[in-house]
Amino acid sequence: MFVRFGGCDYRCKMCDSMHAVDPRAVQKHATWMTAAEIASILKQRADETGVKWVTFSGGNPCMHKLDYLVQLLQEMGIYINVETQGTIWQDWLIGCAVITVSPKSMGMGEKFNKERYEIFLRHLRGHRPLCVKVVVFSAADLEFALWVKDITDSIAEEWAPGFVTYYLSLGNPYPPQLNDDLELQDPPILFRANSVDGGVPIETTLADTLLSIYKDLSEEVLLDRRLKDFRFLPQLHVLVYGNETGR
Ligand code: SF4
Repeated sequence: MFVRFGGCDYRCKMCDSMHAVDPRAVQKHATWMTAAEIASILKQRADETGVKWVTFSGGNPCMHKLDYLVQLLQEMGIYINVETQGTIWQDWLIGCAVITVSPKSMGMGEKFNKERYEIFLRHLRGHRPLCVKVVVFSAADLEFALWVKDITDSIAEEWAPGFVTYYLSLGNPYPPQLNDDLELQDPPILFRANSVDGGVPIETTLADTLLSIYKDLSEEVLLDRRLKDFRFLPQLHVLVYGNETGR
């Protein structure tokens, strides 16, 4: 199950969820719900499907006070995975089963704040399994991922072994954009993408473009022993559904 919260303290140029970031779009699209209403719907879905896990994403869910919602879901036996960029700490995070933190790089078009990330990690004090996920578009982002790992390891060295798992996630260089009506606009199925060698743009599909970048970056990841602790994954939902909203 998946809950997307509106609002974000970042404005990443490559964000694929601007409908949950731009305040005008949030105002237009969001459904305003109490914690009890959200928990009730999730409980109903859990009972119907047997699914016991929910992911909180955004925007940045840490913009919100979710203590009561987390308490309700814990009482219902529903496990929470939360995805955040690690800029804002909330005590309710301790009630989540898994925390996935995804610091944003220059590749995403944002500025990484090392001090805020360190403060976020220090609050964890080894309470939860932590996934660190860095979105990568190019070799420069691989270096950023290594820097993030160094920072994380220096704080996590006092935690239990195996507490942190590192992921690289293939970035989407053609994320959906908000149009003038504040709706996410899919790129066409076939679109013109920049050729890898900087030549004439070629006509291709989003999935083919992403797999081509994935192949090139995978070679770099496999050959660089400094990256041996990272698992490198494409965004499967983008390969399967493209930029379809709601997937
Ligand atoms: S942190 Fe995430 S949700 Fe916020 S702007 Fe960046 S990519 Fe979008």
